[in-house]
Amino acid sequence: MKNKGFTTRLVHADRLLNAPESGAVHQATSNSVLFEFKDAQGLVDVFQGKKAGHVYSRSSSGSNVALQNIITHLEGGVGAITFATGMAAITATMFSLFKAGDHLIVSHFLFGNTRSFAETMQIMGIEISFVDVTDVQNVKAAFKSNTKAVYLETIANPVTQVADLLAIGQLCQSKRALFLIDNTMTPANIFDANSVLASLTISSLTKYIAGHGNVLGGAVVDTGLFDWSGFENILPMYRGPDSTQWGLTQIRKRGLRDMGGTLSPESAHAISIGLETLVLRTEKVCDNALRLASYLHTHEKVSAVYYPGLADHPQHYLAREYFNGYGGILSLDLADGIDPIQFLNALNLVICATHLGDTRTLALPVASTIYFESSAQQRKEMGVNDNMIRMSIGIEDIDDIVADFEQAFSQF
Ligand SMILES: *Cc1c(COP(=O)(O)O)cnc(C)c1O
Repeated sequence: MKNKGFTTRLVHADRLLNAPESGAVHQATSNSVLFEFKDAQGLVDVFQGKKAGHVYSRSSSGSNVALQNIITHLEGGVGAITFATGMAAITATMFSLFKAGDHLIVSHFLFGNTRSFAETMQIMGIEISFVDVTDVQNVKAAFKSNTKAVYLETIANPVTQVADLLAIGQLCQSKRALFLIDNTMTPANIFDANSVLASLTISSLTKYIAGHGNVLGGAVVDTGLFDWSGFENILPMYRGPDSTQWGLTQIRKRGLRDMGGTLSPESAHAISIGLETLVLRTEKVCDNALRLASYLHTHEKVSAVYYPGLADHPQHYLAREYFNGYGGILSLDLADGIDPIQFLNALNLVICATHLGDTRTLALPVASTIYFESSAQQRKEMGVNDNMIRMSIGIEDIDDIVADFEQAFSQF
């Protein structure tokens, strides 16, 4: 299948990778929590990792393995683990790989809940330096003798800063540090994390992968590019014969099994259905977003537009190099005197909601919602202005979205 196109592979993946029974094109969904072993030795062998199988569905189930196989295939990695939410994937990964006294370099421009979780890691004794990852020099300057990893998002939300991805990947490689990329904004058809030397990619499947705002999920994928044999935090019992699996094994045991953020079988199935149309949706979304950005860019009632596809975006040159499409997140600052709440209330078609990566176009006021817990100083550092609106562009006919903006602007 490797040499086939993205969507060809997506729509045939469940059938070919997971071989469902009776000619079904989808893996059957089973809700069984427990698994019977007619021969007790079988249970022992699965427990000890000598045989593949399931013992308890918090740790693994057929539906989760089916989705993990599809995601691993798509990303070209050596394995994947699925979780109940994107945040479960992030927290389980970080808490199973790092310990008090380790140092992490983390992007200054982070999804709000990840930022808040980073502060929890600091409380637990993990040292963190927040840096501007649009320039590799800042990352280089932050490295210390106990630095274990660099963590960033490809396109940051809401201001759409693009990380200096390949330069940071090369730096991590030379320092033997993990390079962790939250790839929620740019799924594998838009961005190849292997090409910038990522070690692990973490995604919220809730967003573009599932795509329809009806299911939560998260995943971590190992690209196979990191040499785990030099990573001292892997516990002795997880150092099996194949060192490419060390990181995932520790995350699966300490992160998924012990912390318990398991994806339900129905959700795994719903995500795999959404995933089939990933390319169709994201191509339309990227096209729509660029057209809306161009319209807003010259509008007198908008003082700034943040979208990596615009030629005057500060990292447009990076986005053009790394991404096949500029993503579906676009933010704008309304002109002085236009209140973001009143403006959002004037939009009819665009939905005021906190989500992204949906088929529908969504918008929300940024400073008073997702950055409500941050101080004015923190918001300033992240480039979040008080009159900023974040949009997640959907797959509607773009003329209808532009018309909705026209009628809303005409009221101010
Ligand atoms: C939404 C999001 C998350 C968290 O995912 P959930 O599935 O909502 O838990 C993490 N990172 C980014 C960039 C996100 O947009």
